[in-house]
Amino acid sequence: MTAMSFELSPEHEQFRRTVRDFAEKEIAPHAGRWDREHHFPVDVVQKMGQLGLFGLTAPDEYGGADGDFTSLCVAIEEIGRVDQSMGITLEAAVGLGINPILTYGSEEQKQTWLPDLVSGRTLAGFGLTEPGSGSDAGATRTKAELVEGEWVINGSKQFITNSGSDITSVVTVTARTGGGGDAPPEISSLIVPSDTPGFTAEPAYDKLGWHASDTHPLSFEDVRVPEANLLGERGRGFAQFLAILDDGRVAIAALAVGCIQACLDMSLQYAGERQTFGVPIGRKQGLAFQIADLEVMLQSARLLVYKAAAMKDAGAPVKDFKQAASIAKLHATESAVTATRIATQVFGGYGFMEEYPVTRFYRDAKVLEIGEGTSEVQRMLIARGLGLPVE
Ligand SMILES: Cc1cc2nc3c(=O)[nH]c(=O)nc-3n(C[C@H](O)[C@H](O)[C@H](O)COP(=O)(O)OP(=O)(O)OC[C@H]3O[C@@H](n4cnc5c(N)ncnc54)[C@H](O)[C@@H]3O)c2cc1C
Repeated sequence: MTAMSFELSPEHEQFRRTVRDFAEKEIAPHAGRWDREHHFPVDVVQKMGQLGLFGLTAPDEYGGADGDFTSLCVAIEEIGRVDQSMGITLEAAVGLGINPILTYGSEEQKQTWLPDLVSGRTLAGFGLTEPGSGSDAGATRTKAELVEGEWVINGSKQFITNSGSDITSVVTVTARTGGGGDAPPEISSLIVPSDTPGFTAEPAYDKLGWHASDTHPLSFEDVRVPEANLLGERGRGFAQFLAILDDGRVAIAALAVGCIQACLDMSLQYAGERQTFGVPIGRKQGLAFQIADLEVMLQSARLLVYKAAAMKDAGAPVKDFKQAASIAKLHATESAVTATRIATQVFGGYGFMEEYPVTRFYRDAKVLEIGEGTSEVQRMLIARGLGLPVE
């Protein structure tokens, strides 16, 4: 019998040090300013590309490292530990930008888009959510009709990450391509280059957090793309995005682990420095026990994330991986929100002041429970995975 291992490999840990070094030098010193100025730092995004972070899981023929999903989770965790905005930029660039094209694209589509996306020279978005359909993503209203060899797209999308930056080259969108009436809607995915006439990335949102990430509403008015821009099989758009989101959930959970780690690091340091009643606040059980809870959250979330990532890398059955992905997402993201509440409390009044990064993490954490499937959606999926007939 071989012993079970709960550790990442030495190679993964070495890679973690490389990404941490990059994050601390290139991102951490500027993250507060980008947040205040709502600035999306294209040059640093492209530096992440030069480090190879966008291409970790892509095959080498498109410029990728042919690496494993676990490495991507390590990278997202480490970037997210210093800046959740840059963490989500990386997560969405790979999980939502590159993955749909890599997984379902024709060879020609891959050759056209992937080399620049993988190197980080450009970014892609994934437009699923609409004003009237988020959790209920199958209720897509955006329509695409085939007219004389072109798809004509009309509709709108909302909250789309990496969709309107200066280096966004393309978005993949879901649209109704048939069905309706009594028949179930036929939903397909289409590739829309961002310079296509009629396609508009509307002004960026004013968000609670993730200020340095790029998020826009998108509108489509008689947007025409060639018939060959259909991604994968016609009518498979719904199934495609469900599969894409499974990986995305683990990746978002890795971002949440980075957030919890940041909360622990900041709290530990502050608890050793700040004095009340003549002693460091870390001497007080009421405070120290909360920090102990942070460590428990960190270790449990990390185990769930890397277990799910290892399942993906080992080619575990889809049903098992889906369940593990939802469990990791739910636990890690809810823990991250709790962790930011504890960490701001540790900082007392300073925890409410923007000069301390803990405040930024507090604002950034909330969306982790919402994006790529809300906590309620994860509970629904987990309950279904248990065989419950939940709606
Ligand atoms: C910053 C940000 C970036 C995003 N990036 C992207 C992106 O790149 N691409 C993309 O396509 N989308 C993106 N999203 C959208 C995100 O995935 C959706 O917001 C999310 O899935 C929830 O959908 P909704 O906002 O329509 O909420 P709704 O679906 O309207 O949900 C409202 C509330 O009802 C609950 N609810 C809904 N259905 C059920 C149910 N069956 N049972 C119990 N409770 C339920 C929800 O959990 C939630 O609490 C992003 C969102 C944000 C905020």
